[in-house]
Amino acid sequence: MMNKKQKIMLLRILVAVAWMIVLHFVPTTGLMRFILYMVPYGIIGHDILRKALKGIRNRQMFDESFLMAVATIGAIALALYAQSGEYTEAIAVMLFYQIGEWFQSYAVGKSRRNISALMDIRPDYANVERDGKLERVDPDEIEVGSVIVVQPGEKVPIDGIVLSGVSSLNTSALTGESLPRDVQAGDEIISGCINLNGLLKIQTTKEFGESTVSKILDLVENASSRKSKSEDFISKFARVYTPAVCYAALALAILPPLVRMIGMDLPADWGSWIYRALTFLVISCPCALVISIPLSFFAGIGGASKAGVLVKGSNYLETLSQTRIVVFDKTGTLTQGVFEVEGIHHSQMEDEKLMEYAALAESASSHPISKSLQRAYGKELDRSRVTDIQERSGNGVLAKVDGMKVAVGNDKLMEHLGIDFIPCHSVGTILHIAVDGEYAGHIVISDVVKPHAKEAIRALKSAGIQKTVMLTGDRHSVAEQVAQDLGLDAVYSELLPADKVDQVEKLLDAKPEKAKLAFVGDGINDAPVLSRADIGIAMGAMGSDAAIEAADVVLMDDNPLQIAKAIKISRKCLRIVYQNIIFAIGIKLICLALGALGIANMWLAIFADVGVMILAVLNAIRALFVKKL
Ligand code: ADP
Ligand code: MG
Repeated sequence: MMNKKQKIMLLRILVAVAWMIVLHFVPTTGLMRFILYMVPYGIIGHDILRKALKGIRNRQMFDESFLMAVATIGAIALALYAQSGEYTEAIAVMLFYQIGEWFQSYAVGKSRRNISALMDIRPDYANVERDGKLERVDPDEIEVGSVIVVQPGEKVPIDGIVLSGVSSLNTSALTGESLPRDVQAGDEIISGCINLNGLLKIQTTKEFGESTVSKILDLVENASSRKSKSEDFISKFARVYTPAVCYAALALAILPPLVRMIGMDLPADWGSWIYRALTFLVISCPCALVISIPLSFFAGIGGASKAGVLVKGSNYLETLSQTRIVVFDKTGTLTQGVFEVEGIHHSQMEDEKLMEYAALAESASSHPISKSLQRAYGKELDRSRVTDIQERSGNGVLAKVDGMKVAVGNDKLMEHLGIDFIPCHSVGTILHIAVDGEYAGHIVISDVVKPHAKEAIRALKSAGIQKTVMLTGDRHSVAEQVAQDLGLDAVYSELLPADKVDQVEKLLDAKPEKAKLAFVGDGINDAPVLSRADIGIAMGAMGSDAAIEAADVVLMDDNPLQIAKAIKISRKCLRIVYQNIIFAIGIKLICLALGALGIANMWLAIFADVGVMILAVLNAIRALFVKKL
């Protein structure tokens, strides 16, 4: 459980304590006493003294080691000067400081390990069948399109499609969802899941580096490099604070005795004022603050990832906690993005043929509409028949099929191309099709809302979100219907991607600075809005890579209900951060005042410091645990 460094530290602590206990029962005096006491001081404090020296040499001396070194050496010097032989205090200060450090490194290491265990999704190998035998291969070496075998109990190493086999998958490490998911031939499968019972043959669709599992690990590993405002505050605070207390201590040591001597004609009493100044220095050590804040954020990010929500940095956790407005994209975000064909109207050719052209033209698009069309068409597509594909975000696609110009898209696309189309009055998303400039009919498709969408909106309301808004490129009638079903506060429809950005900017302008706006989306066309919003939330499973890349928070299982959960987690984490800041600074100020007044001695000071630190660290670790909602 402990690493080597921690074991050595523990040993040093124990040896020093034992030595002090023995010395307590052995009466010594003079130089012998000094030497005998300096041994445990050296054992426990040599690295601190070295660090302090190094700091002075590099002219970056105002750190904790410097405070500890000055305070303890000062105390020893005082004992020598007064010939009291009272070295115990200096050693005890060093000892407690090191016990605190040890506890902190143990707790931090432990929570880091917890988080990595949580994220224990990195697959070590992939099985490849060669000459009828399974071979274990480094997943990095598997090319796209290879066939890999995943046995029961193994992790799926690379994203792909199931070729054969049926099984249940445990996706909890990725999505926080504890129910197993059943898969069979033809299903898409993402890496990082655990195969529970059947043998699966999978054709890979991505390289290992591009697979879900690698992306997630990247995200989590880089998360702590993005600092939140609170963390920034702490490092700025420390930069001002440490020199300030050092000068204050110096003033405390020099000014009162001078005033007494010169101004009041009293004995200067140097010893007791220097002692107060040294106590003041020991008290001022800001360890609890410096340690517990980043640890709280780290634990918060870990807790969120356990719930299937990836937060890319502690700054986003902070913003998330202040979110008051949530703006949603419709297709793929609130709805499943799996369209069913409802009807084919005014077709100028056989329905089958119309579907074929539409599916071919859409064959390269990653839009949910395109995927649904290809599925509805159901037959193998010969992609070599399609050339010159152009996707018009928020409008549709243009392509050449068998050399003919085919356009598939909404009213706007037809208007833009100047094609005389027949408007449709059914409720649903309309795909008009034109071939070589002639109108060829339209396909009505419709989508259903996600099973948890309504609950998600309600959960957001009860989590204190003031406004929920939906933006969509889809038709007015469809948008209204969805908004009403879900109980959204506002809806804007028939927007192009650029209009979505405009609309979000309007909402950003209209809100108070403190209330943050989150945008939730899934598509490539949502990427600009995701980065424009105060905080961008992307769908992790269905979402496009561009959206996941642009987002600050990723929902692993595309469940909008997780947004409310993420907000609650972030609030809890921030609450803990503030508790720790207030607690640590408060106790610190009280002790500083007591020290300056000469009421607190060094013992009390170091006890208070280590105590505060231990409590703050324990409090920080609470952020790792999330209640089920
Ligand atoms: P949303 O904002 O709901 O996610 P989009 O902005 O992606 O929707 O698309 C808006 C509209 O543009 C769709 O409802 C559809 O009419 C049209 N459209 C977008 N992409 C395509 C496509 N690949 N094929 C056909 N129509 C499309
Ligand atoms: Mg969308």
